[in-house]
Amino acid sequence: MADPKFCNKCGSSMPAGSKFCPECGSIVEGTEFEKQRTKEMNDMVRENGFNTVKFLLTIYAIPIIIIGIIDIVNASANANALWSNQSFQEWLKTQTLFKGLTLATLTDYFTYLGYLAVISGIGAAVSLVFVTIRRYWLFAVIGCMVAAIFCFWSIFGLFIGFFVTWMILDLKPFFEEFQGEGQ
Ligand SMILES: [Zn+2]
Repeated sequence: MADPKFCNKCGSSMPAGSKFCPECGSIVEGTEFEKQRTKEMNDMVRENGFNTVKFLLTIYAIPIIIIGIIDIVNASANANALWSNQSFQEWLKTQTLFKGLTLATLTDYFTYLGYLAVISGIGAAVSLVFVTIRRYWLFAVIGCMVAAIFCFWSIFGLFIGFFVTWMILDLKPFFEEFQGEGQ
C-alpha cells in the first residue's frame, strides 16, 4: 500500500516514506512506523493497567489479612474491653435491637468481623495471583468481587474492590485464554 501523499492534519504534501509531516510534525497514519507506535502505546496502557491492579490488590490483601487475624486473636479481649466500658453499657440499655446481648455474643461479633476481613483479603490475594500470571481471568474477577463483597462493612473498601474488579474486566483480552481472539 502506497504511503499517503498528503498530511491528514494540515493537508501539506509529503515526500514518500515520511514518518512525520514536514509542515506540522504530526505522525503519518497508515505507515508501519505509525502502527508500531500505536502498538507500543497500547502495550504501555496495558502494562500500566496490570501494574495498577497488582499494586492495589497487594496493598489491600496483605494488611486486611493481618488486621483480620489480629481481630480474631483479640476478639475476646476487645469484647471484654468494650463490655466493661461504662458508656457502652449505658448506650446498650437504650438499644432495643441489642436487648439481651451478652459478652459471649459480643465476642462472636468481633470474631466474625475478623473472619470477614480475612476472607476479603484472601479473595484479593487469589485475584492477585491470577492477574500476575494473566490466566484464569474469571477467577481473577471472582476473587476481586469476593474481596469487595466481604468488605461490605467499609464503604471505602467496597468502592475500591468494585473499582479494581472493573479494571480486571477491562484487562480481559490480555489474559492468556483470550489471546488471539478479536484482533
Ligand atoms: Zn501536516
